[in-house]
Amino acid sequence: MTDFRSDTVTRPGEAMRQSMLEAPLGDDVFGDDPTVNALQNEAAELLGFEAALFVASGTQSNLLGIMSLCGRGDEVILGQMAHAYRWEGGGLAVLGSIQPQPIENEPDGSLSLDRIRAAIKPDDPHFARTRLLALENTFHGRVLPSPYLQQAKSLAQEVGLLMHLDGARLFNAAAELASAPTGDESVEGRQPASGTSNAKLPTRDAVVREARRICAGFDTVSLCLSKGLGCPVGSILLASRETIAQARRIRKMLGGGLRQAGILAAAGRFALANHLERLIEDHRLATRLSAGLEQLAHAHPLLGGRVRVRPATTNMVFVDIEPTLAGELASHLDASGLGFTSSRQTNGWLRQRWVTHLDLGTDDVEHALAIWRSFAGRD
Ligand SMILES: *Cc1c(COP(=O)(O)O)cnc(C)c1O
Repeated sequence: MTDFRSDTVTRPGEAMRQSMLEAPLGDDVFGDDPTVNALQNEAAELLGFEAALFVASGTQSNLLGIMSLCGRGDEVILGQMAHAYRWEGGGLAVLGSIQPQPIENEPDGSLSLDRIRAAIKPDDPHFARTRLLALENTFHGRVLPSPYLQQAKSLAQEVGLLMHLDGARLFNAAAELASAPTGDESVEGRQPASGTSNAKLPTRDAVVREARRICAGFDTVSLCLSKGLGCPVGSILLASRETIAQARRIRKMLGGGLRQAGILAAAGRFALANHLERLIEDHRLATRLSAGLEQLAHAHPLLGGRVRVRPATTNMVFVDIEPTLAGELASHLDASGLGFTSSRQTNGWLRQRWVTHLDLGTDDVEHALAIWRSFAGRD
């Protein structure tokens, strides 16, 4: 399969596997796995936090981050489409006794500051205690605009809310910002940096600088190693020493204490050292894919008006397909060995999601476009 389903599907490469084989190991529940400790120290230092915790998944690190900051009967404000609200089995409520207060995501993934203000409950026994604001960056591939992020942090500070960032793809956001033309703070109203074909790779330092800037002011940040960074397993939670101590306790309670976890953490160390600046390559591939599909959708009568391609945002492309075409097209793409995911929209159209990653190259994108072309040209 040429697999565009997710950036989670990558297999560790030769050099990453070698680093896993050679990693010194201990027992991380006793706190003496040197590779886990090294990863945690490196990640914390890299992103400007006191401490970090290596955990099994992004779902677990979101849960641990939010549970470490909120108690029973506390409330978290987050997006209606936030991963932590919608895609994590209701864990906040089930395991944390934390009340989610979802509000609509704006199309760019942000939460309106007015709506956040309106959702904050007064200190009154009728209400849950509004304690935390959780944001997601990137959101469906979109980079939260830097000025917005700044305003949201100021608001949280003003009203006394703690903040959690679901930064599953934090470094995709950082790589995109690091490639933006200098002086351009806004991702709105310009071509994605990755869209300019002759753009060069940002430096690792520049990516790290942007990532630190995004993270500054958040009490907890969750970051996935197993997505664009190409690791087989794992996420990292970043926070103060005190919050990480609390998260460690809850992780144990959830059955998430791992033993010779260094074998997995080694992949994380390798990825943080080698895979940050290359993320922009994934973004370029996504831009190539969306531009190619857009061109096809215009050129072929079979697709005209029935296929809407949304411009790539970081490493994701979304394509909306009219209901009468959707089944037939999906069968063709499936039968040709292309992997992607899709979801039904409220208007009945099918939305396909195509994700680029470390294990896909230009050839794979051209191959996918050729298969689309063979479908479009067959009437
Ligand atoms: C994938 C993802 C997660 C959860 O990660 P898992 O490792 O699959 O549990 C959380 N948030 C976002 C935005 C994600 O894309």
